[in-house]
Amino acid sequence: MPAAEPSFRDSVDLMFTRAVRFMDLSPGLEEKIRVCNATYTVRFGVRLRGAIHTFTGYRSVHSEHMEPVKGGIRYAMAVDQDEVEALAALMTYKCALVEVPFGGSKGGLRIDPRAWDVHELEQITRRFTYELVKRDLIHPAQNVPAPDMGTGEREMAWIADQYRRMATTDINANACVTGKPLSSGGIHGRVEATGRGIQYALREFFRHPEDVARARLSGGLEGKRVVVQGLGNVGYHAAKFLSEEDGALVVGIVERDGAISCDTGIDVEQAKQWMMKNGTLEGAPGTKFHAEGAALLEAECDILIPAALEGVIHKGNAGRIRAPLVIEAANGPVTAGADEILRDKGTVVIPDMYANAGGVTVSYFEWVKNLSHIRFGRMQRRAEEAEHMLLVRELERLSEDQGLGWTLNPDFKRQYMRGADELTLVRSGLDDTMRTAYQSMREVWHSRPELGDLRTAAYVVAIGRVAESYRAKGL
Ligand code: GLU
Repeated sequence: MPAAEPSFRDSVDLMFTRAVRFMDLSPGLEEKIRVCNATYTVRFGVRLRGAIHTFTGYRSVHSEHMEPVKGGIRYAMAVDQDEVEALAALMTYKCALVEVPFGGSKGGLRIDPRAWDVHELEQITRRFTYELVKRDLIHPAQNVPAPDMGTGEREMAWIADQYRRMATTDINANACVTGKPLSSGGIHGRVEATGRGIQYALREFFRHPEDVARARLSGGLEGKRVVVQGLGNVGYHAAKFLSEEDGALVVGIVERDGAISCDTGIDVEQAKQWMMKNGTLEGAPGTKFHAEGAALLEAECDILIPAALEGVIHKGNAGRIRAPLVIEAANGPVTAGADEILRDKGTVVIPDMYANAGGVTVSYFEWVKNLSHIRFGRMQRRAEEAEHMLLVRELERLSEDQGLGWTLNPDFKRQYMRGADELTLVRSGLDDTMRTAYQSMREVWHSRPELGDLRTAAYVVAIGRVAESYRAKGL
């Protein structure tokens, strides 16, 4: 990244400031919304391999206009205060945009998770959790973490268990963290949720030919050439669903040690299996390997999906990005400087705060499920079952009355009467959320051309909602 590039947090602030210029907020309220409320830094020691190792962790709370505050915990060597604060701010705007009733927070631990074995990671995670629980920075009503880069279901299960040990009388203990495995109170569809959200976001985008035309594209997702950066949880699921279910062609995948390409479309599942087995994409069947992976970001394609780190599209390469449509699956992959370059070029960027909101949306479903102590969707399912049962009975009665002799296929009848399962409910709730949020962002994008891009429109909607909530509170 060139030296002139601002830090991640400054980049988010610049985007925020660009948006508030188009709003009518008092300077005091604007400042209140922009700043991070608090960031807690902890350094703790864990005895491992015969010596004491000191780790540095953070939990930043950006805005408590709604509680609990929500956001993942990241394990990476690049974690620092600037990064968690930028990510916490993005959580605030993301939740507001998709109308998930949480404030924004984020945590991180400066660690290379691959340098430690599972048992050691568990000890470190439990100790970090202990520090955060002690300060109510993990709590079902106040602050609810989730997975992020370097963490997953396994870490969330440890966190939940550690919280439960410390808060033995909390009947809502399960709701202290989301992204848990199913066996520890998780919900179907959480692991795939962010990638699924990318798919739903793109489907919604392509339902609006006017928007598609703004990206100098036409038609639907079918046959669109896609380059994905990052084959982690988000990139993998997005690429898999888009290629397997929407007919998109994943022509390139960029990973940390290089990239693979194939003009006729990469088999994403096969590539993922290959990477897990061999630790690299090099040699994945039917693909060409490029040691200079990042160059593939600049390849000619229809849709570019950065799904790895922040700051990967910067002033240094933004001018060379040829994809007319970029969807930010990662948080902050485009810097403020690059954003300007892309906007001037007419590249359409579907912003992170909307695009990757699938994760926190399904986290919300999980949290609600935990608090209700009822299997998610059970109520809806009962209602649906009753309705379906009535319909089936009605059909049968009609057939008998009229002597029509209709018989219903017993398999169909059973399935129809059983109603929807949890995964179906989660997916349809997510789909609905992604459609509605897109439309609220789009409406502003179209009605206020002076805003210039989708990101600014998204900020205007999100900041407006946060401001409204502060005003309602009397601040
Ligand atoms: N870490 C994810 C994000 O950046 C998920 C957060 C959550 O589910 O709370 O949106």
